[in-house]
Amino acid sequence: MIAGIYLHPWDLFDDGAKVTFDNIVDRAGLNSVTIAATYHGGPPFRGGFFLQHNLRRRFYIPEAGVVYFNPHPEYYRGTRLKPIKSRQLGDYDALDVALKEAKERNVQVFAWIICLRNERLAAENPECAIENIFGVRDPTWLCPNNPNSKEYLLALIEDIVSNYDVSGLELESLNFGSLLPHPRGLAADNLTDALLKMCFCDNCRRAAKNMGYDWETMERDAKEVMRVYMNMEPRVADSITRGRVNTISFIQMVVQMKGLEDFMRFQADTLIQVLSEMRERIGRLGREGSVSMYCDFLLLRRLRELVNYYIVNPTTPEQLIYQASMIRLMVPEAKLQLNINMLPGTRNFSLEMIETARKAHVRFINFYNYGNMHTKDFDEIKVALACAKE
Ligand SMILES: [Zn+2]
Repeated sequence: MIAGIYLHPWDLFDDGAKVTFDNIVDRAGLNSVTIAATYHGGPPFRGGFFLQHNLRRRFYIPEAGVVYFNPHPEYYRGTRLKPIKSRQLGDYDALDVALKEAKERNVQVFAWIICLRNERLAAENPECAIENIFGVRDPTWLCPNNPNSKEYLLALIEDIVSNYDVSGLELESLNFGSLLPHPRGLAADNLTDALLKMCFCDNCRRAAKNMGYDWETMERDAKEVMRVYMNMEPRVADSITRGRVNTISFIQMVVQMKGLEDFMRFQADTLIQVLSEMRERIGRLGREGSVSMYCDFLLLRRLRELVNYYIVNPTTPEQLIYQASMIRLMVPEAKLQLNINMLPGTRNFSLEMIETARKAHVRFINFYNYGNMHTKDFDEIKVALACAKE
């Protein structure tokens, strides 16, 4: 089994490779590292990190949408968007440092890539960003149908896979999304959340038409539903937002409105297409890396040829058993990657969780994350992994 840890580049930079890997390999007994090659951050959308045991600092605010390796310019010659290097870490190539140290210790390295969430590139290049239902460009998220956004993402993957000997990629935020807080004044529920993550840009319109979708109906249905929420009586809007009204789910609307159903299918088709293009580029390079991804249940079956590890992040061992059963119902051969969160408030680490992972034939356990966990956690992880083995 692969047993690894998520590593933020600033922790490696601050602690140095030796201390970091001593903690990960010797103290926690782990055999892999998933290091952020790119990362999100920056106010106002994300706060800072409390660094429990960092040798240099206790608090760090990451920059929005930067990379933590030295990009090779030839890969971005034809792309309009270019990778932006971290200013705070300068020329430090975290991916290279991690790979060199890992090789000495026989540890695998996975590159963790934040895909379409990019508060820097989307804010500075609004024409490449998602155009939301109100016609506003989202400063936090790139549109996967925008050719410039897509080419940038493909170049980034090609650069990393060609120049760094990683065992695989973990793809985060490869979807339509938004980090903007819910608009003040608008009733909020799951349905409005889904509507606010749709893109209405010209590239999406063109792509949908090329795929044979009826864009006019898609746009009309989505906007009609939103109009009901926009015109909601104030006291009802208040009750909806407080969760005191049982509202209709997006899926319940989808089965009744063809335009919404098509929107859902079109967005899924887009993601499958982007992921297929990524795999094709990786394949052309003759590299055999794995791909790990959180998978929307709606896409599970379609991802079977494209994803190697389906990531799950259950809150309890019972939830892990349930998720594993449902995923395997859809994809019997699915390999699971269990993410174990060590943070206060969302911690789901226990000996029982590790034992359940073994029984559920989880292939990859990944602990989140090196910098934010307590040093005691390193010891507890080692003990839990050893106990579960017996
Ligand atoms: Zn779009």
